[in-house]
Amino acid sequence: MIHRAYSLSSTTEAFNAECAKLRSIFSRLDYPMSVIDSAIKKFLFLNSSADKAERNNDDSSTVRISLPFKDQVAANAVRKQLRDLSHKIGPTLQPVFVSKKLGQDLTPKEIKPSIVNKQCVVYQFSCDLCDADYVGYTARHLHQRIAEHKNSAIGRHFLEAHGNNNLLRVSQFTVLRKCQSKFDCLVFEMLFIKKLKPNLNIQTDSTP
Ligand SMILES: [Zn+2]
Repeated sequence: MIHRAYSLSSTTEAFNAECAKLRSIFSRLDYPMSVIDSAIKKFLFLNSSADKAERNNDDSSTVRISLPFKDQVAANAVRKQLRDLSHKIGPTLQPVFVSKKLGQDLTPKEIKPSIVNKQCVVYQFSCDLCDADYVGYTARHLHQRIAEHKNSAIGRHFLEAHGNNNLLRVSQFTVLRKCQSKFDCLVFEMLFIKKLKPNLNIQTDSTP
């Protein structure tokens, strides 16, 4: 009945009034006043300690600290130290141990500069319909450069000599040398042009 009175009362005054009513009811039923009072006291004591426990579990008074997990011994030591500290300062300090995500270990340490992925090659084009050839270099992937040759001296050769500028094929290209730098490409391109004398390298034809 005390519990019911407590649940029904929204204020301490209302609860006290309910308790006074209970006192008069039970005293009329010949219960000793000391028994009634001790029952009310006991109820109030249990209720206030339940309130305290509830407040301790409340998020607002609990401070959670994220810590990296090392091992169980260290975790226990930290937990004990935080418990001692929370007794001193008030709010509950609760360690939350987090483990490293696998992804953190697997992320690449450095991103390779894009220049490394580039292809430095000196290449030769040989027409498969006649003996026309061409030597060039590219600092990019060879297939990118090949696509551009549709509109270069090679494309013009197909149109002028064979009446069709749609004859360009990857198979007409061969890599003469893989180079380390653009400077290497320029040197070896010049050397290969001197050696092979490709007939589509018009510009270099005039150089002595
Ligand atoms: Zn040709």
